[in-house]
Amino acid sequence: MSRLLGDSHRRFLQTLMAVGITDEQEARALYQHCCDTHKMPCTPDKLDEFIEAINSRLQPMFMQIRKGMSEENGHQYYALVNMAETDITRMTSDYADNELELFRKTLDLIVSSENGTASSTDILNSTDTMTSKKLKKSETEHLLTRLVQDKWLCERRGEYTLSTRCIIEMEPYIRTMYQDQVKVCHICHNIAFQPKCQICENPSCGIKIHNPCVARYFKGRVEPRCPACDDFWPHEIPDFPAAFRESRPPNKDKKLQKTTAS
Ligand SMILES: [Zn+2]
Ligand SMILES: [Zn+2]
Repeated sequence: MSRLLGDSHRRFLQTLMAVGITDEQEARALYQHCCDTHKMPCTPDKLDEFIEAINSRLQPMFMQIRKGMSEENGHQYYALVNMAETDITRMTSDYADNELELFRKTLDLIVSSENGTASSTDILNSTDTMTSKKLKKSETEHLLTRLVQDKWLCERRGEYTLSTRCIIEMEPYIRTMYQDQVKVCHICHNIAFQPKCQICENPSCGIKIHNPCVARYFKGRVEPRCPACDDFWPHEIPDFPAAFRESRPPNKDKKLQKTTAS
């Protein structure tokens, strides 16, 4: 279906390209801003329709604005995704070949780990097996800082996890590369990494559910049971959304304001 795109659609798309990822609240504010700037009527509950119109025009270019959930706080996010590339080539303009090799190694560590994290020590050690130009310790540390700044990785006390942006944008790649290791959430069917999810303790079941999805699914149920095997769900049901307060990356809002201004 081909729909006409107005200036407001174009402005929305340009801003999203500049910031990479935006949460739902910011997307709503941006939608309002774009409509106001170009004197278009803005219907607050029509954001998804507005994005669908943009997506119908992006489709021939194998691009798409995709919605995904943060495993951290359960909030919805929007990211511009290149559907044609199932590799991490989309990052090649920003990173050198050996940096991309180390990013791939970091992905390997995170996906194959029990808890969805990789320690800085393990990442530093993995430079020993690099086939491209080996990164020095200081270069590796600098690269990790950049990957966090560019919102591909998150860091907490020396432990690295995949960011929401990375999970939304790299989902086709991760699913293809790590078919046997990747588990999906039984509720929302997106990739689920530990420790941001709960697992059914029935050994013949073992489904995973994201913490925010657990909170939503079991809300108000007196005796929680596994949606797959009907066994008792023994985990504590997180209190949503209070338990998942968002920790925003610094300067994110400033950057968004800067790009939406004018
Ligand atoms: Zn889920
Ligand atoms: Zn179960």
